[in-house]
Amino acid sequence: MPIDPTLPYDDQNIFARILRGEIPCNKVYEDDHALAFHDIAPQTPVHVLVVPKGGYVSWDDFSAHAPAELIAGFVRAVGTVARQLDLVEPGYRLLANIGGDGGQEVAHLHVHLFGGMPLGRMIA
Ligand code: IMP
Repeated sequence: MPIDPTLPYDDQNIFARILRGEIPCNKVYEDDHALAFHDIAPQTPVHVLVVPKGGYVSWDDFSAHAPAELIAGFVRAVGTVARQLDLVEPGYRLLANIGGDGGQEVAHLHVHLFGGMPLGRMIA
């Protein structure tokens, strides 16, 4: 069910629990600012989630209130993951579901990285 992005951050959400190591994940990459792991229900041959290490639900909150170092680190981590998975040359897709209309289900900001096949052109 899509989340309500106006609710306060709930540190019991599944990605917060993965970040704390309470729930296992199939890790791809981790640094001080982000954790990347394979989606449990992959939609494409490569389907990785990149999660910033901070309690933010929405892009609005993250972009307005996260420390610049965390924002930069998160963006860099996405690029690092794409390189690590050899997706730079073939290409890939980034997607973030934000709030109810965006179809967001996990209330911890994250970016989906899709790849491993031609994805075609998609604008919505
Ligand atoms: P979104 O919130 O709509 O962007 O989607 C959340 C994504 O998290 C979905 O693609 C789920 O398959 C994925 N997901 C949910 N629980 C887990 C988990 O425990 N490990 C990895 N991926 C998960």
